[in-house]
Amino acid sequence: MKKRRFAGMLAVLTLAGAVLTGCSATSSTTSVQTESSSPQGEKTSQVVNIYSDRHYETDKLLLEEFSKETGIKVNVIEGKSDELIERLAREGKDSQADLLVTADVGRLHRAKEQGLLQSAESDTLSKNVPENLKDKDNQWYGLTVRARVLVYAKDRVDPSQLSTYEDLTDPKWNKKILVRGSDSIYNQSLLASFIAVNGEERAIAWAKGIVNNMARTPKGSDRDQAKAVVAGEGDVAIMNTYYYGLLLNSSDSEEVKVAKQLGVFFPNQSTTGTHINVSGAGVTASAKNKENAIKLVEFLSSEKAQKQFSEANYEYPANPVVEPSDLLKSWGTFKPQTINLTKLGENNKNAVQIFSQVGWK
Ligand code: FE
Repeated sequence: MKKRRFAGMLAVLTLAGAVLTGCSATSSTTSVQTESSSPQGEKTSQVVNIYSDRHYETDKLLLEEFSKETGIKVNVIEGKSDELIERLAREGKDSQADLLVTADVGRLHRAKEQGLLQSAESDTLSKNVPENLKDKDNQWYGLTVRARVLVYAKDRVDPSQLSTYEDLTDPKWNKKILVRGSDSIYNQSLLASFIAVNGEERAIAWAKGIVNNMARTPKGSDRDQAKAVVAGEGDVAIMNTYYYGLLLNSSDSEEVKVAKQLGVFFPNQSTTGTHINVSGAGVTASAKNKENAIKLVEFLSSEKAQKQFSEANYEYPANPVVEPSDLLKSWGTFKPQTINLTKLGENNKNAVQIFSQVGWK
């Protein structure tokens, strides 16, 4: 009942590239208004329009919850993040988007550099989002945290053999390392973090060393690397924690089997810490509903929302007062890298260039 009552308040449009050019956010707003009357007599002007690359059920439920609490209608246009950023740039100040929600600081920073975001000051956000997980000019805020960890074949690898990202370049791992391509923003940010933490020379040496030890030419997603470990193509894969959670809780029993044969290892615990990144949100430069957009980010950083991200989507809460879910806790606590995540964006171009220099496909 509850869900039906508010279903019309959240309009989600998934747009293919072809549609992107011809369809503006205005059309999505219109479609919502024809679907439902405004809640409890709220003015229909109380809206917030989001461009999001997060296509999770958890997000949908949270946005519905936000609408229910505030009476602010949420319109979502889903798409691939790079397409959404391009679209924002193309639409300029005419864009109807108020908020960009996307994974990875590399992308959030790219949007900032293109002048597509604006500062959003909020006492609640200052309290809920730690300094190192947000933009220094408050143009984006991290909302969920993911660690880029090692997963290993439990039947072939003793975790005592594992230690650091750097150790994966040792000859003992020759043809044993599985990792996706250099076009992955997650890998670009990982390397960007090493540039910040270890300096450029050591970052180049690391990338070179990994290319030497790759079990195969990179292909597929993070989850495909995990599957390849279980298939025996290699012994250790680099992947984001929530993908391991998704495998473990998959409706596909084969994926569950894969996850159960893997162990999770947090590297660099006695050195520089495990690499972390965020999925986050930034108020757009063109926002017509800036206050509503800030309210929504505040809501997503609240204890209630953060708990849900952790429990249903296997992401670590950005809000430090919220504890990770029991599943996440079962993987152990870990020491993260402590660099300001803005560095990941600043070093992105350099990282991409290093990948190409060392032949990481
Ligand atoms: Fe992802």
